[in-house]
Amino acid sequence: MNELYAREMLAETCRRLYDRRLTVSAGGNMSVRVGEDRFLITPSGRNKGLLDPGDMILMNLKGKALSGGKPSVERGFHAALYAANPGTGAVIHCHPLHCVTLAVKGEAVKSALTPEGVLLLGEVPMVGYFAPGSRELAEAVGARAGSRAMILERHGAITQGADLEEAYNRMEELEFQAALQLAAPDAEELPPAEIKKILRGK
Ligand SMILES: [Zn+2]
Repeated sequence: MNELYAREMLAETCRRLYDRRLTVSAGGNMSVRVGEDRFLITPSGRNKGLLDPGDMILMNLKGKALSGGKPSVERGFHAALYAANPGTGAVIHCHPLHCVTLAVKGEAVKSALTPEGVLLLGEVPMVGYFAPGSRELAEAVGARAGSRAMILERHGAITQGADLEEAYNRMEELEFQAALQLAAPDAEELPPAEIKKILRGK
Protein backbone atom coordinates (compact mmCIF):
# COMPACT_ATOMS: atom_id res chain seq x y z
CA MET A 1 0.00 0.00 0.00
CA ASN A 2 1.18 3.52 -0.84
CA GLU A 3 2.69 4.98 2.35
CA LEU A 4 0.98 8.37 2.20
CA TYR A 5 -2.43 6.77 1.67
CA ALA A 6 -1.70 4.25 4.45
CA ARG A 7 -0.87 7.12 6.85
CA GLU A 8 -4.24 8.75 6.10
CA MET A 9 -6.17 5.49 6.46
CA LEU A 10 -4.46 4.70 9.76
CA ALA A 11 -5.27 8.16 11.19
CA GLU A 12 -8.88 7.76 10.06
CA THR A 13 -9.14 4.30 11.67
CA CYS A 14 -7.76 5.69 14.94
CA ARG A 15 -10.38 8.46 14.89
CA ARG A 16 -13.16 5.94 14.23
CA LEU A 17 -11.99 3.69 17.10
CA TYR A 18 -11.91 6.74 19.38
CA ASP A 19 -15.31 8.05 18.23
CA ARG A 20 -16.88 4.61 18.78
CA ARG A 21 -15.31 4.51 22.27
CA LEU A 22 -13.36 1.38 21.41
CA THR A 23 -10.34 3.15 22.82
CA VAL A 24 -9.99 6.05 25.26
CA SER A 25 -7.36 8.74 25.82
CA ALA A 26 -3.87 7.61 24.77
CA GLY A 27 -4.67 3.91 25.16
CA GLY A 28 -4.16 1.33 22.44
CA ASN A 29 -1.99 1.22 19.32
CA MET A 30 -2.77 0.56 15.69
CA SER A 31 -0.66 -0.30 12.64
CA VAL A 32 -0.87 -0.96 8.92
CA ARG A 33 1.52 -2.87 6.64
CA VAL A 34 3.09 -0.85 3.81
CA GLY A 35 5.41 -3.51 2.36
CA GLU A 36 6.72 -7.01 2.86
CA ASP A 37 8.85 -5.98 5.84
CA ARG A 38 7.53 -2.50 6.71
CA PHE A 39 4.60 -1.16 8.71
CA LEU A 40 3.37 2.15 10.08
CA ILE A 41 2.43 2.39 13.77
CA THR A 42 0.85 5.01 16.01
CA PRO A 43 3.15 7.11 18.22
CA SER A 44 3.52 6.49 21.96
CA GLY A 45 1.34 8.33 24.47
CA ARG A 46 -0.89 10.28 22.08
CA ASN A 47 -4.68 10.60 22.11
CA LYS A 48 -6.01 8.40 19.28
CA GLY A 49 -8.72 10.91 18.37
CA LEU A 50 -6.17 13.60 17.53
CA LEU A 51 -3.56 11.92 15.32
CA ASP A 52 -2.46 13.27 11.95
CA PRO A 53 -1.15 11.11 9.06
CA GLY A 54 2.34 12.57 9.61
CA ASP A 55 2.42 11.33 13.23
CA MET A 56 2.67 7.64 12.22
CA ILE A 57 6.08 5.97 12.49
CA LEU A 58 7.58 3.67 9.86
CA MET A 59 8.96 0.42 11.32
CA ASN A 60 10.65 -2.75 10.11
CA LEU A 61 9.68 -6.25 11.22
CA LYS A 62 12.47 -6.30 13.81
CA GLY A 63 10.60 -3.49 15.59
CA LYS A 64 13.15 -0.81 14.64
CA ALA A 65 11.90 2.72 13.81
CA LEU A 66 12.84 3.92 10.32
CA SER A 67 11.35 7.42 10.64
CA GLY A 68 11.20 10.09 13.35
CA GLY A 69 8.98 10.05 16.44
CA LYS A 70 8.53 7.66 19.35
CA PRO A 71 6.72 4.48 18.29
CA SER A 72 4.19 2.69 20.48
CA VAL A 73 5.70 0.61 23.27
CA GLU A 74 3.73 -2.38 21.87
CA ARG A 75 5.55 -2.36 18.52
CA GLY A 76 6.97 -5.80 19.41
CA PHE A 77 3.68 -7.69 19.15
CA HIS A 78 2.64 -5.79 16.02
CA ALA A 79 5.94 -6.85 14.40
CA ALA A 80 5.46 -10.44 15.62
CA LEU A 81 2.02 -10.70 13.97
CA TYR A 82 3.22 -9.26 10.62
CA ALA A 83 6.25 -11.56 10.66
CA ALA A 84 4.13 -14.64 11.36
CA ASN A 85 1.34 -13.80 8.88
CA PRO A 86 2.26 -12.51 5.40
CA GLY A 87 -1.49 -12.02 4.80
CA THR A 88 -1.93 -9.65 7.75
CA GLY A 89 -2.23 -6.05 6.58
CA ALA A 90 -3.35 -4.35 9.80
CA VAL A 91 -3.23 -4.86 13.57
CA ILE A 92 -5.40 -3.09 16.15
CA HIS A 93 -4.86 -3.17 19.90
CA CYS A 94 -7.14 -1.24 22.23
CA HIS A 95 -8.98 -1.37 25.55
CA PRO A 96 -12.73 -1.55 24.84
CA LEU A 97 -14.75 -1.48 28.07
CA HIS A 98 -16.59 -4.81 27.75
CA CYS A 99 -13.52 -6.70 26.49
CA VAL A 100 -11.50 -5.34 29.40
CA THR A 101 -14.31 -6.18 31.83
CA LEU A 102 -13.96 -9.84 30.80
CA ALA A 103 -10.14 -9.53 30.72
CA VAL A 104 -9.94 -8.34 34.34
CA LYS A 105 -12.33 -11.11 35.42
CA GLY A 106 -10.15 -13.66 33.59
CA GLU A 107 -13.18 -14.77 31.54
CA ALA A 108 -12.73 -15.82 27.91
CA VAL A 109 -14.91 -14.24 25.21
CA LYS A 110 -17.56 -16.65 23.93
CA SER A 111 -17.43 -15.78 20.25
CA ALA A 112 -20.05 -18.36 19.17
CA LEU A 113 -23.13 -16.87 20.86
CA THR A 114 -24.34 -15.61 17.46
CA PRO A 115 -23.55 -16.58 13.83
CA GLU A 116 -21.86 -13.20 13.30
CA GLY A 117 -19.32 -13.94 16.04
CA VAL A 118 -18.54 -17.32 14.46
CA LEU A 119 -18.05 -15.75 11.03
CA LEU A 120 -16.06 -12.68 11.98
CA LEU A 121 -13.98 -13.88 14.89
CA GLY A 122 -13.59 -17.65 15.20
CA GLU A 123 -12.15 -18.80 18.51
CA VAL A 124 -10.77 -15.99 20.67
CA PRO A 125 -7.90 -17.09 22.94
CA MET A 126 -6.92 -15.35 26.17
CA VAL A 127 -3.24 -14.38 26.35
CA GLY A 128 -1.93 -14.53 29.94
CA TYR A 129 -0.82 -11.32 31.65
CA PHE A 130 2.61 -9.84 30.90
CA ALA A 131 3.72 -6.24 31.40
CA PRO A 132 2.78 -3.91 28.52
CA GLY A 133 5.65 -3.47 26.10
CA SER A 134 7.53 -6.54 27.38
CA ARG A 135 9.27 -9.10 25.18
CA GLU A 136 7.27 -11.79 26.99
CA LEU A 137 3.99 -10.18 25.89
CA ALA A 138 5.20 -9.91 22.27
CA GLU A 139 6.17 -13.60 22.32
CA ALA A 140 2.88 -14.70 23.88
CA VAL A 141 0.90 -12.75 21.25
CA GLY A 142 3.13 -14.12 18.48
CA ALA A 143 2.35 -17.66 19.72
CA ARG A 144 -1.39 -16.97 19.02
CA ALA A 145 -0.70 -15.44 15.58
CA GLY A 146 -3.18 -17.82 13.95
CA SER A 147 -6.11 -16.13 15.74
CA ARG A 148 -8.03 -13.24 14.21
CA ALA A 149 -8.79 -11.82 17.65
CA MET A 150 -7.45 -12.33 21.16
CA ILE A 151 -7.96 -10.98 24.66
CA LEU A 152 -5.00 -9.93 26.81
CA GLU A 153 -5.63 -10.84 30.44
CA ARG A 154 -6.10 -7.73 32.67
CA HIS A 155 -5.27 -5.52 29.71
CA GLY A 156 -7.25 -5.37 26.46
CA ALA A 157 -7.85 -6.83 23.02
CA ILE A 158 -6.04 -7.39 19.71
CA THR A 159 -7.43 -8.02 16.24
CA GLN A 160 -5.68 -8.48 12.91
CA GLY A 161 -6.97 -8.51 9.34
CA ALA A 162 -6.03 -8.32 5.68
CA ASP A 163 -6.56 -4.54 5.84
CA LEU A 164 -7.60 -1.84 8.31
CA GLU A 165 -11.29 -2.29 7.59
CA GLU A 166 -11.18 -6.00 8.39
CA ALA A 167 -9.15 -5.51 11.58
CA TYR A 168 -11.53 -2.69 12.59
CA ASN A 169 -14.65 -4.80 11.91
CA ARG A 170 -13.25 -7.61 14.00
CA MET A 171 -12.56 -5.24 16.92
CA GLU A 172 -16.07 -3.79 16.73
CA GLU A 173 -17.54 -7.31 16.62
CA LEU A 174 -15.31 -8.51 19.47
CA GLU A 175 -16.50 -5.67 21.70
CA PHE A 176 -20.12 -6.37 20.71
CA GLN A 177 -19.75 -10.07 21.59
CA ALA A 178 -18.14 -9.17 24.94
CA ALA A 179 -21.02 -6.77 25.72
CA LEU A 180 -23.54 -9.42 24.68
CA GLN A 181 -21.91 -12.01 26.93
CA LEU A 182 -22.10 -9.65 29.90
CA ALA A 183 -25.72 -8.76 29.10
CA ALA A 184 -26.76 -12.43 28.70
CA PRO A 185 -24.40 -14.29 31.06
CA ASP A 186 -26.43 -17.53 30.98
CA ALA A 187 -26.59 -17.80 27.18
CA GLU A 188 -24.82 -20.78 25.66
CA GLU A 189 -22.77 -20.84 22.50
CA LEU A 190 -24.13 -22.36 19.29
CA PRO A 191 -23.56 -26.13 19.16
CA PRO A 192 -20.49 -27.36 17.19
CA ALA A 193 -22.63 -28.87 14.41
CA GLU A 194 -24.32 -25.51 13.83
CA ILE A 195 -20.95 -23.71 13.85
CA LYS A 196 -19.74 -26.10 11.13
CA LYS A 197 -22.84 -25.40 9.08
CA ILE A 198 -22.33 -21.63 9.39
CA LEU A 199 -18.70 -21.92 8.31
CA ARG A 200 -19.62 -24.16 5.35
CA GLY A 201 -22.10 -21.54 4.10
CA LYS A 202 -19.43 -18.81 3.98
ZN1 LIG B 1 -2.74 -1.80 25.81
